[in-house]
Amino acid sequence: MARRTQKVGITGKYGTRYGRAARKQLLTIEVQQRANYTCPFCAKDKVTRDACGIWNCASCKKQMAGGAYQLTTQAGNNIKATVRRIRNM
Ligand SMILES: [Zn+2]
Repeated sequence: MARRTQKVGITGKYGTRYGRAARKQLLTIEVQQRANYTCPFCAKDKVTRDACGIWNCASCKKQMAGGAYQLTTQAGNNIKATVRRIRNM
């Protein structure tokens, strides 16, 4: 089947509302929040967003805290690295 939208993707649901720039920014976020992420426990691509910052693995049923719209964030990774570094001192 042909691709239904060429550019707007999931933000096509907003029609012509809210302006092009805002919808373009939102597109990356909405795609991230709906994507399946790799589970850090069972390594399957089964982690989906449950609510803001709450992520669930459909395979091993683990629930984890993460970013609001993606499982891991740059800020979260920095903190993890810092904690690891301090712990090893
Ligand atoms: Zn899992």
